[in-house]
Amino acid sequence: MVDCIFCKIIAGEIPAKFIRRDDDVVAIADANPQAPSHLLVMPSKHIANIADLAGLANAALLSRVFDVATKLGKEHGKHGFRLVVNSGADGGQTVDHMHVHVLSGRFMEWPPG
Ligand code: AMP
Ligand code: ZN
Repeated sequence: MVDCIFCKIIAGEIPAKFIRRDDDVVAIADANPQAPSHLLVMPSKHIANIADLAGLANAALLSRVFDVATKLGKEHGKHGFRLVVNSGADGGQTVDHMHVHVLSGRFMEWPPG
């Protein structure tokens, strides 16, 4: 995807701190962290929105993304962690390449803003 910032990161065209990567899933450090540990886990291929991933055809990829996110949450969050997926304008999504935020290292308030 030509104008996708996360596709450019995955292609090595924009620098980022890679935490983990394999053929299907990539994890990077968020450039504007909202917690002591703030990671982003995403599919390597461009999928704009989690709404596009919903459905049995993509169940394996969705499962892999959440498996990596959960493992990183357990590794980085000594006392727990929060996974967040923003979807669409009202969901607060600003980068249209589906990603899971993995936040940890502080107490997470509820409800979110
Ligand atoms: P969202 O608002 O859910 O779409 O989240 C997008 C996230 O991407 C935000 O937390 C940004 O701080 C983060 N972000 C944007 N550009 C970059 C970048 N170049 N490297 C790492 N994280 C980024
Ligand atoms: Zn993309």
